[in-house]
This record gives sequence, structure tokens and C-alpha cells, in this order.
Amino acid sequence: MSADNTPGNFSTDSEAVDSELIRFENVSKRFGSNTVLDSLNFSVEPGKHVTLIGPSGSGKTTILRLLMTLLKPDEGTITVAGQYLTHEEKNGKITPASDRHVREVRKNIGMVFQQFNLFPNMKVLRNITEAPIHVLGLSKDEAEERARELLDMVGLGDRCNAYPTHLSGGQQQRVAIARALAMRPKVLLLDEVTSALDPELVAGVLDVLRDIAHSTDITMLCVTHEMNFARDISDDVLMFDAGKVIESGPPERIFSEPQQERTREFLSAVL
Ligand code: ADP
Ligand code: MG
Repeated sequence: MSADNTPGNFSTDSEAVDSELIRFENVSKRFGSNTVLDSLNFSVEPGKHVTLIGPSGSGKTTILRLLMTLLKPDEGTITVAGQYLTHEEKNGKITPASDRHVREVRKNIGMVFQQFNLFPNMKVLRNITEAPIHVLGLSKDEAEERARELLDMVGLGDRCNAYPTHLSGGQQQRVAIARALAMRPKVLLLDEVTSALDPELVAGVLDVLRDIAHSTDITMLCVTHEMNFARDISDDVLMFDAGKVIESGPPERIFSEPQQERTREFLSAVL
């Protein structure tokens, strides 16, 4: 365990609460001898859309998995909406978080994966209502009303009773987006959500995400290789290499005038 997990190092953190929805502070993550994130620092303000770009293996998915608490950092702290993700404050002391605390903080976060991950045995509507009913305690009627609104928003209002396997990949991904939003998260994490789709289905999914980015105040943390989309929706772009942010800034600057050779190389390969 590192020095960052000792109580003394938490003292300044509460200053971050209001202006930052997500904060990574000196976060390191290793798999064996492979240091995937190396004392990473970054933060995201509420309502902002931040895109993570960088070569395969640079640690982008690891960041999202840490936020989903699917992984734990080896060092450092992650704060979401002013609360530590893997620690909690009890009687003025910082302790490892209880499962209950983790569940509460996690409610702020929704994620859409590359591989949709819908429940195959449930119809579309129930895919969306399941968590709001069981995790948020909504009534079936409330959850269904919310689900229908979201399905309308993603253009699938007429597919409530379909099973996922009867939908195209693009439609399944739009259901997955609706399912994530049904929990009313403050942050939506998107991990290469169009990478597994046939090319002709990509635009429909990106249009839905553009619409969400422009018409809601949800905070987005997005990993994508769709650079035009990133340019459209991002307030900030973070370029990763080897577990560090090597360059960041507004999309116009990162895409048009990258300062780092590594960023230039990467962009010329993907653009
Ligand atoms: P990216 O999403 O940027 O492509 P990842 O965050 O998926 O990168 O992976 C970063 C590095 O961590 C890669 O070298 C990958 O092999 C390694 N890695 C990711 N998850 C695991 C795991 N569960 N066990 C071992 N190594 C992993
Ligand atoms: Mg990845």
C-alpha cells in the first residue's frame, strides 16, 4: 500500500468538491510488472464532455474500469461528485470503502461498453427497467415510463417488446445507451461504443450521442476513435500514452495543432 493511502494525504481534497465531478489524484495501476497508469492526475468539471484518445494499450479502458469500480487503483485516489470512490470518511477517519459506500457513489456513473452487454433473456423494455426498479427502487410503472421516454429519444420507441438478438448491433447499442441513462447518472462513460458495429450503423449511434451531448447536462467521459465525433462533442481532449496524459486541450487545438510528436503520429494514423 502506498503513502497516498495514508490519512494525512487526504486533507486538501474537499476543495475539489464543487468544481470537479471526477478527480484522479496520483492514480497508479499495475498488472504484474506492467504499469498501466502512472501517477495519473486529471479532473472533469460537471457537464463537460471529455474525450480520451491514445494508442491501444495506453490505459484508456483501465480508467473507465476504475471509475466503474471493476478495478481498484494500486495508489492514489479517485473522487466522484466529492466522494472518494474506494475510501470513505467515517468519524473523521479515512477507511477503505464499504460495499454500501461503493454502491452509493457508483450510482453517479453509467457506462456503455463496446459489446452492448444487454441481458439476452429480457425484452428491450425490461433491459432498461431492471436496474431502476431493483437499484433505485422505482415502481414498475415509473420505470417503464422512464424507459419509454428514453427509447423514444434513441429512436426505438417501437421496439419495447423485442429481444436484443432481434435488433441490429446499432439498435442494441442504442438500447444500451438508454439503459445507462435510465439510472440518471451524473457521468456517462463510453468505451469505443461504435467499434464493434458494422460501418453503416455507426452514424445512427453517434447521432444519438451527439443529441445527448447537446441536449442534456450529463458529463461524458468518452473513449473513441471517431475523431470527427470527438471534435463535435468534446470540451477537452486528453491524449494518453503509456499511462500518462501527454497533452490535453480543446479539440481544435489537439486535432489541428498538436504540440507533441507522439500525438501527431497517433492522429496521422487514425485521421
Ligand atoms: P486501452 O483501452 O487504452 O487500449 P487498456 O486500459 O485496456 O488500454 O489496457 C492497458 C494495458 O493494461 C494493456 O497493456 C493491457 O494489456 C493491460 N491490461 C488491461 N487489463 C488487464 C488485466 N485485467 N490483466 C492484465 N493486464 C491488463
Ligand atoms: Mg480500450
